[in-house]
Amino acid sequence: VILVLNRETTTTQADAVVAALAELGCTGRTFRSGARLLIEASGAEASIDSAVLEAWSAVERVIPVSDEPHRPVPAGQQTVPVEWAGGLQIGDRRIAVIAGPCSVEDETQIMAVADAVAAAGATALRGGAFKPRTNPYSFQGLGPYGLELLSAARERTGLAIVTEVMSTDHIDVVLEHADVLQIGTRNMHNFALLSAVGASGKPVLLKRGWSASLDELLHAAEYVVQAGSEHVVLCERGIRTFESYVRNTLALGIVPAVKQQSHWPIIVDPSQGTGNARFVADMSKAAIACGADGLLIEVHPEPARALTDGDQSLDIPQFQTLMRDLAGVAEAVGRSI
Ligand code: PEP
Ligand code: MN
Repeated sequence: VILVLNRETTTTQADAVVAALAELGCTGRTFRSGARLLIEASGAEASIDSAVLEAWSAVERVIPVSDEPHRPVPAGQQTVPVEWAGGLQIGDRRIAVIAGPCSVEDETQIMAVADAVAAAGATALRGGAFKPRTNPYSFQGLGPYGLELLSAARERTGLAIVTEVMSTDHIDVVLEHADVLQIGTRNMHNFALLSAVGASGKPVLLKRGWSASLDELLHAAEYVVQAGSEHVVLCERGIRTFESYVRNTLALGIVPAVKQQSHWPIIVDPSQGTGNARFVADMSKAAIACGADGLLIEVHPEPARALTDGDQSLDIPQFQTLMRDLAGVAEAVGRSI
């Protein structure tokens, strides 16, 4: 922090401020800007409330010069191992494609999608059993029965299971069936839930809140890490803007920014990210091209009859075509599908 001293402060008074800072564990360096004396304080300043320093008579105001404290970013990209999917490491050369319906609806639907996406080369199956719905009268998901269907689909196909945990009350039952715990956009700021999933030790897929900044997303990830799990995968799923031709604005610029500012893998959800199946293929390609480590894609055997998010779900032939097209994009950026 920088302490801006009052105009009339003398060098002797500034020396007294430096001595007081030393007692708080900070090193103070006095410098002059025009007629003013300023002090740069470093050391333990992050743990001192600015209001305490501003209460000192010689101090006019305190300017923070760095962000809030972050853990130092470890060097190199981290990969997140997913236990079930023999050898799958999200964040390594191979792009993780997590595909499946928005919601698990019934056995026929989930098995049809699981078989099709496995055959097309997906690495994991998505499907919501607990659904965070804006309207309380709309389909809320099958709950524990949906989780059982996902487990059965895993046995059948070998795909890892990615599913949302909406509340700390559901963690135990979701843990019995999921290989990766998804935290939805509406829960990115639910710090109790972040800590609880972190304590479980399972990999966590953390979606960006629809109004959350990059910094807030990174801090949310640190809640998970602090609780005990290093295995966080971030997910861009679109943010709310004034634009109306899409449901959300898919902010792909966050992908290279995450690569520069953190060591966590990041995947992209072009389904929630656009809200329109017509845009999903193009935005999937763009995501891979700009460095995303994976994709989360909604696929339904009959999108027109889907109970949730049919407008943005690919049908099976569309998903097969996309997987073929993505192979070339991945190769162009030194990755594989
Ligand atoms: C979903 O993946 O179906 C979902 C509800 O996502 P989000 O939390 O990003 O809206
Ligand atoms: Mn959805």
